[in-house]
Amino acid sequence: MERVLHGPSIAEAHLHGLHDYLTGRGWVITMPDYYGTDEDGRPTDPETRWRYAASYGGVVMNSVEDSTPCSLACGFGFEGGLSVDVSTAGNWRGCEAHPVAEHSLPVEEHYDEAADRWNDLDFTELGALLDRLEPAARALDARELIECLFFGPCGRDL
Ligand SMILES: [Zn+2]
Repeated sequence: MERVLHGPSIAEAHLHGLHDYLTGRGWVITMPDYYGTDEDGRPTDPETRWRYAASYGGVVMNSVEDSTPCSLACGFGFEGGLSVDVSTAGNWRGCEAHPVAEHSLPVEEHYDEAADRWNDLDFTELGALLDRLEPAARALDARELIECLFFGPCGRDL
């Protein structure tokens, strides 16, 4: 009945479950040095975030505060029950064509006393959402979004 207890609490099995699910789809931990990982590279912090590495066609970008377009990202949410929260690839202050949209999918965490184990989280809904969002994130052109941030709303008549 192991739980990760710094910050919000979550069953270690569920933290690892989401990690395995996402890395199986080509996701990576965002800032692993910041969040921390164990010797197997698995997350130790309930607030760990993952990002879809193939966002923007997998182009490598320096991370510049407020100026780097956001990758498709995911992590647990703890407000009003456990959820898996997904934010789309885009700009936080982008135009109508390039926004970050947020999705929050509730998940049920419960301990099965009879089986002496945690339930498996159901990622069916997450999978359906990511089937839609991953190709969209891959197809985005990073340069277009950077120009959107620096030169103003796309399509505006300058
Ligand atoms: Zn734009």
